Amino acid sequence: MTKNMKRAIRRHHVKRLNKKRKGYWSGILLSQEHNALRWCGMITKTPKPCSCHMCGNPRKYFNERTMQEKKSDAALIQDIADLQLKKNRPRSSHGLIYYS
Ligand SMILES: [Zn+2]
Repeated sequence: MTKNMKRAIRRHHVKRLNKKRKGYWSGILLSQEHNALRWCGMITKTPKPCSCHMCGNPRKYFNERTMQEKKSDAALIQDIADLQLKKNRPRSSHGLIYYS
């Protein structure tokens, strides 16, 4: 019987991220304020709480497509081009497509 390690792994990552992100938000955790424990939890779940024009979704501020959408469109165009190439390849007498 093996023990389920999900909880241990989750706790490990929370601890690791807490340590890593102490310097985030202008080092608010390093300043040891009275509610540093509260910030500690927030900083783990929300490393970048900002949605200003530099950090936020570009569609909101510049009416621009996001990077994921651009990549998705490029992949779709590439797939269509590949399909058209395959469609135009010479076929054998059995109707099979030759792949090289
Ligand atoms: Zn920002």
